[in-house]
Formats: sequence, C-alpha cells, structure tokens
Amino acid sequence: MKPLRVKETGEKIYPTKIICLARTYRKHAEEMNSEVPSEPILFLKPPSAIIHSSEKIVIPEISKKVHYEGELAVIIGKNGKNIPKEEAHSYILGYSAFLDITARDLQSYAKSKGYPWSISKGFDTFAPVSPVTKKEYVDDPHNLSIKLWVNDQIRQNSNTKYMIFTIYEIIEYISRIMTLEKGDVIATGTPEGVGEIKRGDRIVLEIEKVGKLENYVV
Ligand code: MG
Repeated sequence: MKPLRVKETGEKIYPTKIICLARTYRKHAEEMNSEVPSEPILFLKPPSAIIHSSEKIVIPEISKKVHYEGELAVIIGKNGKNIPKEEAHSYILGYSAFLDITARDLQSYAKSKGYPWSISKGFDTFAPVSPVTKKEYVDDPHNLSIKLWVNDQIRQNSNTKYMIFTIYEIIEYISRIMTLEKGDVIATGTPEGVGEIKRGDRIVLEIEKVGKLENYVV
C-alpha cells in the first residue's frame, strides 16, 4: 500500500480508510438523476487503491465505462470519535486533490440490483491523491476553485462553496459512526461535469491552494 505524503515535511502517513461522499454538489446529483440527500451518503474505498501524481490509472478489463470524479479530500490529523462540528477543525491535518475513479457501468449495475458499490469504486489505482497541503496554507476550505481537464479540455469547473454540507458537519457525521484515525482520507464528493476516460488520456485536477494531480490512463 502507498502512503500519503505531506508536502511541507515529506512525512509519510498510511490511512486506515478512505471515506467517500456521494452527491454533495446539487448539480452533480442532478446530472446523475439522483436525489439531493438530507444527510451525507458514505461509501468506503480501500487504501490499496491509492496512487500518487504522475502514476497510471489502470482501466480494468471487466469495465467498459470508467469515469473521473475530481474531489477535495480532507486528511485527518489525529484520532477522534464523536467529534462535534465546532471542534472538527482541530482534527484536520490538511487537504489533497483526489480522484474518485469509478467504473460507472459496474456502479450502475450495482445500483439497479441494490448491491454495494465496492467493486466499481475499489480497483487498484482508483484513488489518485496529491501530496497533503497542511491546513495552515488553506484559509477557507469552503471557497476553493476545483478544476479538471482531460487532454487539456476543461471538464469540471466549480468551487467547494457549492458543497451542501460543510467539512465540519461531515467530520461530525462520520465520527459518530467510525473512529477517524490519523491519515484517514475523506473524499468530499464531486461537482458536475463527470465523464469518461479512455486509455491514453491525461487527467489533470487542480484545487486552489491545495495542489495538483496529473495522471495518465492505461
Ligand atoms: Mg465521488
């Protein structure tokens, strides 16, 4: 398994889990013909899916339709359980740019059957993550531009201010269910503009003040 790397210090951290949120941007929920939820929808991605910037996303043989989803990730800095939202900021180490790569055809099948999403979200290389920028360098995580290009064409162009929950509400919600541990990754969901990637594509995700990810698809 690959560790996260802290940009300023080079420290390596091994997350125990990657917690992802679904439908946290209204326009993305609409493009998926899905309801906007009244409380967060969570799923888990295995940490074995992590790759770094400049490493390759591998399209699995059994999927015919793989999508990118550009997301802001929150990286937890210390262990916590039942964290009130008022204290959530002190549990954050920093932020990363994150790609929630999704085998959309397998996810659509799972949705139609009422099955979990684990297969569609869990392949090796399906969690590219940038080095962690410490929170001291990101004054307001709720007002960051988030942009994604495929082969230099812009496909996603939004801002974290359009998230329907705050990061602090999300931490409060998750930590009522599972202990958040140092290094854990919370992928906060994608804005509108998701789409397909093919072998040979180059994906660039850039989040203001947080960082940049660049990955090729094979
Ligand atoms: Mg996602």
